[in-house]
Amino acid sequence: MNHIAKVVLDVALDREFDYLVPDTLAAQVSLGSNVFVPFGRSKRLGYVVGFATSSQRTDLKPLLAVAGKVPLLTEDILKLARWMGDYYCAPVEHAVRTVLPRAVRRKEARFKACLFVFPLQGEKDAVPPEVGRRAKCSPGQCAALDILREEKNGIALSELVKRSGAGAGAVRGLERKGLVRIASATVERNPMEGRNVLPTFPRDPTPEQAAALTLIKHSIDTRKPPVILLNGVTGSGKTEVYLRAIARAMRLGKQALVLVPEIALTTQLVRRFAARFPGKLAVLHSGLGMGERYDEWRRLRRGEARLAIGSRSVVFAPLPELGLIVVDEEHELTYKHDAGPRYQARDVAIKLAEITGSAIILGSATPSVESYHAARDGRYRLLEMAERVGGGLGADGLHRSEILPLPPVRLVDMRREIQSGNRSIFSRPLQQALAATLGRAEQVILFLNRRGAASFVMCRDCGHVIGCPACSNPLTLHYDREPSEIQPDHSAGNPQASTLVCHSCGFRTALPVACPQCLSLRIKDFGVGTQRVAEDVERMFPQARVLRWDRDSASRKGAHSRMLDAFLGGKADVLVGTQMIAKGLDLPMVSLVGVVAADTGLHLPDFRSGERAFQLLTQVAGRAGRRSAGAQVIIQTYNPEHYALQAAQEHDFRAFYTQEIAYRREMGYPPFGRLVRFLYASSSEAACRREAEILAARIITLIAARHLAGWGLIGPAPAFFQRARGRWRWHLILRAPEEHAEDLAVGTFLDALGPIFGWIVDVDPVQVL
Ligand code: ADP
Ligand code: ZN
Ligand code: ZN
Repeated sequence: MNHIAKVVLDVALDREFDYLVPDTLAAQVSLGSNVFVPFGRSKRLGYVVGFATSSQRTDLKPLLAVAGKVPLLTEDILKLARWMGDYYCAPVEHAVRTVLPRAVRRKEARFKACLFVFPLQGEKDAVPPEVGRRAKCSPGQCAALDILREEKNGIALSELVKRSGAGAGAVRGLERKGLVRIASATVERNPMEGRNVLPTFPRDPTPEQAAALTLIKHSIDTRKPPVILLNGVTGSGKTEVYLRAIARAMRLGKQALVLVPEIALTTQLVRRFAARFPGKLAVLHSGLGMGERYDEWRRLRRGEARLAIGSRSVVFAPLPELGLIVVDEEHELTYKHDAGPRYQARDVAIKLAEITGSAIILGSATPSVESYHAARDGRYRLLEMAERVGGGLGADGLHRSEILPLPPVRLVDMRREIQSGNRSIFSRPLQQALAATLGRAEQVILFLNRRGAASFVMCRDCGHVIGCPACSNPLTLHYDREPSEIQPDHSAGNPQASTLVCHSCGFRTALPVACPQCLSLRIKDFGVGTQRVAEDVERMFPQARVLRWDRDSASRKGAHSRMLDAFLGGKADVLVGTQMIAKGLDLPMVSLVGVVAADTGLHLPDFRSGERAFQLLTQVAGRAGRRSAGAQVIIQTYNPEHYALQAAQEHDFRAFYTQEIAYRREMGYPPFGRLVRFLYASSSEAACRREAEILAARIITLIAARHLAGWGLIGPAPAFFQRARGRWRWHLILRAPEEHAEDLAVGTFLDALGPIFGWIVDVDPVQVL
């Protein structure tokens, strides 16, 4: 008999505790149950993660109670949580906490305290003042009735009190008058409600789509299918493939899970899913209110919703009948969680597919080097779609389906522009294209990569970037102020900047006054902001309506949707934006995409900088010409020779991959090596350095003691973002050959290292800045 339960408590102790299961509770306790247990002198909430027949301890206490009828954690998600804790080196209670949304943990714990007010039948269409007069209501009560007329499905008592100004007693008064009912219950809210989603119907698949679907369908029917990598150019109809695959899974009685990089940026995509599967969709993401999240979670848990869509944490959604997982834009770095456990949702999804035997599709126009390598190696199945579908409506109002060319991409050498006297941030070709496009009343996107702007030092005459004499890394300009305070809008030299630092080996040198290569004095830091670009466009083209879209202008809830609608509705001619506009938008009227400065991000001291640059440029370029031919893309750069730019110019993922994989192999970076980054932050830089040196020594000793060939350490060195929130940051990066990946995880190397207090441990970091 399983009479001992292993329980994880919401306290940071990284261990499981044994409790006796009393006979009275035996029928209610199952794997994943939420239970109350005695702990010290207090009572705590925990989760049952396993059972045992014996324990090392003899003084076990019994469980006190079980909360909720259905266990919060499914067995699969529990397995996933345990794997995640081990792999990402996180305490088990952190892992368990991560797989349960806060909304769910909270609600379940206070289940009984949740009172809702429901309007009673027959009164919902009456006019409240009238009802109020008849029933002699106070103004507060009338206001409450008014609100209930809108909230026909009921509303939490606490919220009604807050919104109406009527006290809880007054609401009780309404109940006595027979106008409302108060009960402990939950009410379903639907995040998609109120948004116009018209049902849509699938089109006939193109031959490429049909071929992909054949394999995917087979995969859905198979028990342990391999991961599928769907590499389709932008606009090749990947989303349509996902939609059909999901329909198939649903017909077989299965649930599906769709991960998107960032929900706020993918409203368009979510609308497409909602339109195809009305009523069956649950949306989970951090932008939802607690209540909404809780409801969506429960609809999935009960199997009412058949499809979950959301950003990274949706991978933990409770889907008892999961059969298909889609990871859209699988290369996106936003899939990495930036707090412990530092999981990569795509990799967690692959693990989940393995645990549940589900089919899994990773989709991207620019797959990550790791995924593509796995596909080339035969570990994943590679599906390619090379042609763009010209969808949408034709002039005749009928749907069209034709093959569209990808827009031509032109690289403009900004060194030449400067040499010929053009000091504007727009090259002559971009100015001409802007004038022509605006003249035809077509739309323009101007893109700026802000990541790493104003960090490296480059010669404007020859394009030389100052690098470390010891490593080949570009050196980074350091300021006396913190990075967050630095305005990206200073393309003139910065008097406050002082030192150049290498982020691999710690080398430091003063900022030179002249270019070491051509002796030009025009050597300075690099960076331009969206505001400056928008102003320059307005000055040059006063009639153009310019819309700025970046973190600052889109910080409010719903701002993305509004901006998207404004641009789609033709209320602006030029959209100026950062990374966020590069993703998945389908904007039919855009016929010119200009990349103002492709160089930012190219020179970051990060092994992924080339990959990121290629992905971003390809994605932005993909925004042009999605409905008709004749569109163009112009990329301004000081480094037209850079392989990432060359490949982006040709829309040539494979050319990029061939170069990149050679570099990764040579350096032992992923996918040939596994990285673990250790980061230490402190208000004292000396403390950072000291801790980093101590840890480095421990790691090196352990590598030697275990005779681990091919293992190495990068650093210790200051992090690229050397200061954040008032603290200094130092890091070191452990690199193990891929063949030794298993020796890294918990139970082996990282465990043997012993506890390392105060350090952030990041297994498989997506960036090392
Ligand atoms: P991706 O996800 O690869 O960028 P989408 O699925 O968004 O591509 O497709 C691009 C455009 O082509 C969309 O407007 C879509 O409606 C349309 N489309 C996709 N598949 C077809 C098809 N088989 N027939 C007609 N139009 C299609
Ligand atoms: Zn160096
Ligand atoms: Zn120079």
